[in-house]
Amino acid sequence: MTTLTLDVRAATKRFGDGDTAVTAVRGVSLAVAPGEVVLIMGPSGSGKTTLLSMMGALLRPTSGSIHLDGTEISALSESRLPAIRLRQFGFIFQDFNLLSALTVLENVALVAELAGLRSRAARDKAIMLLTHLGLGKRLGFLPEKLSGGEKQRVAIARALINEPTLILADEPTANLDSKIGREIMRLLRGIAKEQGRSVVIVSHDQRIRDIADRVLWLEDGAFKEMVTMATDPVCGMAVERERAVSGQREGDTYFFCSNGCRAEFLVAGGQGARGWIRAASALIGGRAGSRAASPRR
Ligand code: ADP
Ligand code: MG
Repeated sequence: MTTLTLDVRAATKRFGDGDTAVTAVRGVSLAVAPGEVVLIMGPSGSGKTTLLSMMGALLRPTSGSIHLDGTEISALSESRLPAIRLRQFGFIFQDFNLLSALTVLENVALVAELAGLRSRAARDKAIMLLTHLGLGKRLGFLPEKLSGGEKQRVAIARALINEPTLILADEPTANLDSKIGREIMRLLRGIAKEQGRSVVIVSHDQRIRDIADRVLWLEDGAFKEMVTMATDPVCGMAVERERAVSGQREGDTYFFCSNGCRAEFLVAGGQGARGWIRAASALIGGRAGSRAASPRR
């Protein structure tokens, strides 16, 4: 039996009370397997950072539970959390959060020392990791001398040095150009797969979707189904199934951009050659559409 790395059960987070209370996360459940890379997307203010902070034991859920490797971290006393954060989690942030007065090497080695490694061993381990991440020639640099991509690689080294169970990244590509952002995310994915570490990334960056094993959509504090597209059989436009006008014919459901197209399809144009060709193409998944009546996964 595989144990889950992370098991979030019905986690809710409410800030404040009374009239001013904000429920940032509402009953979210999520299980992450070892080695799995999960991307949580969603608009600004949808609760991504709050959810990630609960997963990393930086915030306690108002209700619900969070288990890491079988331990209920949401029930541990405050005094036990710093040690768990240091050893079990690797955090990666949008603004890198490197210590500006420390060199690349010191930034990474410090975290290993805090976790109990002797100074020499911590340095050696940091050098190995940084070199593996292509920063062997930057060890003595201060963060200000690095490019954005290099800074984020230092942050990744820092997140990995204590061999965490789970890596949590909050908008890791927000301050990187798109090419570097994708490279960094590919690198992170490679590490996750090589070392069997689980990774949860929250981001609204569509360009990193393909590095994830699973993409979830958070909206207003809860997971929503990803938007699924269908093709309007009359005009050929791609439409969101959840928002489109729908209509049934011969037991199949079709989706339309407007009532006009729907009427044309169901009443008039449906019998014309153009309508039938489009209908056939929508059913077999031609263009951007999937078969409209196919069951949801
Ligand atoms: P995201 O990361 O998706 O942009 P956040 O998790 O930061 O979203 O915020 C979700 C909601 O919770 C927002 O409405 C935000 O204003 C609110 N919120 C976040 N942190 C706090 C806090 N410490 N106190 C009060 N409200 C908060
Ligand atoms: Mg955020």
